[in-house]
Amino acid sequence: MGARWPWATALLQSDTQLGRDSYYEASVQRPPAWPALQGTQRADAVVVGGGFAGLTAALELAERGMRVCLLEADRLCAAASGRNGGQAIVGYASGQGLLERQLGLAQARQWWDWSLQAIDLLDQRIARHAIACDRVHGYLFVADSPRKARQLHADMVLQADRYGLPCDWAEGADVARLIDSPRYLAAAHEQRSGHLHPLKYGLGLAQAAAQAGVVLHEHSPVRRLTQGPGGVVAHTDSGQVSADLAVVAGNCTLAEHGPEVVPQVHARIMPVGTYMVATPPLDPALCRRLIPSGAAVCDNNFVLDYFRFSADHRLLFGGRVSYTTRTPSHLAERMRQRMVQVFPALAGTPVEHVWGGFVDISMNRAPDFGRVGQRVYYLQGFSGHGVALTGLAGRVVAEAVAGQSGRLDAFAALQHRAFPGGPRWRTPVLALGMLWHRLRDRLG
Ligand SMILES: Cc1cc2nc3c(=O)[nH]c(=O)nc-3n(C[C@H](O)[C@H](O)[C@H](O)COP(=O)(O)OP(=O)(O)OC[C@H]3O[C@@H](n4cnc5c(N)ncnc54)[C@H](O)[C@@H]3O)c2cc1C
Repeated sequence: MGARWPWATALLQSDTQLGRDSYYEASVQRPPAWPALQGTQRADAVVVGGGFAGLTAALELAERGMRVCLLEADRLCAAASGRNGGQAIVGYASGQGLLERQLGLAQARQWWDWSLQAIDLLDQRIARHAIACDRVHGYLFVADSPRKARQLHADMVLQADRYGLPCDWAEGADVARLIDSPRYLAAAHEQRSGHLHPLKYGLGLAQAAAQAGVVLHEHSPVRRLTQGPGGVVAHTDSGQVSADLAVVAGNCTLAEHGPEVVPQVHARIMPVGTYMVATPPLDPALCRRLIPSGAAVCDNNFVLDYFRFSADHRLLFGGRVSYTTRTPSHLAERMRQRMVQVFPALAGTPVEHVWGGFVDISMNRAPDFGRVGQRVYYLQGFSGHGVALTGLAGRVVAEAVAGQSGRLDAFAALQHRAFPGGPRWRTPVLALGMLWHRLRDRLG
């Protein structure tokens, strides 16, 4: 594995290390581990990966009456799904422009509607399965330079005129009514997006899946997936599951745990490290002053800051990126400094938790769903929008399995390219490319 995927071993080690101090892990009581797969099992569908995408796919398939077995390499939601900013955002990281250029306006509008449905689906699942995950509606986009403010305004006008999602716009001194920060020159508030506690949501999905009959196995990395005329077989170190079909939702760590699972699509996503800190609980009145609506916040820089308050009044602040799979040095202090630039009122506030994980970005930042052969479906490339879109992905794949492949085919029709450079040079090539965007952010 190391020779073929030189970044893989480093990624696995750094991913484990980055997950250790997550505020989310510290704030939930995980149930005992599901047993690792032993021996041979038979199912209608085998799902590889127990993050949001795998869990929602498994749940949807089970709700359609299938016998489903889900194999997770680590603990459920131990990777990106249990560590993220919790921001459930409408739209796609690619922006609508890419979709309009590739697919035309009518299809781009269709995709937009699907992203709104992703938010509705999230809320429906939370309600239906009574998942207590601190769900809050409201989202604030902010801009920290005149150029970024113009860009944000243009994006918001387009979003309202062409896609029918209005927002409350503020600039200059008026920004203070939406966020009490000297950093931002403009802000746009919309009500469809929002936030939640991702690990509580993910573990709630797991419980719902188990209740629907999904057989869950943790600590069961799938090393190989073989396809034949009669079905597929997922092989772990201590067992195998044969099934009619497989859904692969292994995200960034798939290339390490199971490089032979769907090697055809690995090169179309790259792991990008992103990091978060959590303060101790703050005075609730201070939280209300800093972000009166309680919305999640995100700026529109290429390397963006994203933050929100948790239900127990901590500031959860995310940002920075690493394109090298190495954790940046002095991470906690640097993140704290960024947080204080946004909210000087927190100058004396320490950080209590620091963690991070890897976002799966696709080359064009649009999600990459499809099929390899007739029996293997894959879901990847959420590009930082996976909190909401993974739930849509689960529904779309289950529809396709049930014979309604219209939406999966539409997603699969979008062109995706492999990252340049091959396994050895892919990461350095990406790091160089991104340096340009970071410089532009700094120039304002
Ligand atoms: C710090 C951080 C902040 C983020 N913030 C946001 C945000 O605010 N909003 C947003 O929308 N998105 C955000 N994201 C991205 C979001 O978390 C992901 O898009 C989403 O969780 C992807 O879900 P997934 O199920 O595809 O992948 P994952 O959650 O990574 O799950 C994949 C699972 O597959 C398992 N696996 C891999 N290979 C195998 C194998 N061979 N056999 C068995 N199991 C395997 C892994 O162990 C893992 O548990 C963030 C990500 C990070 C890391």
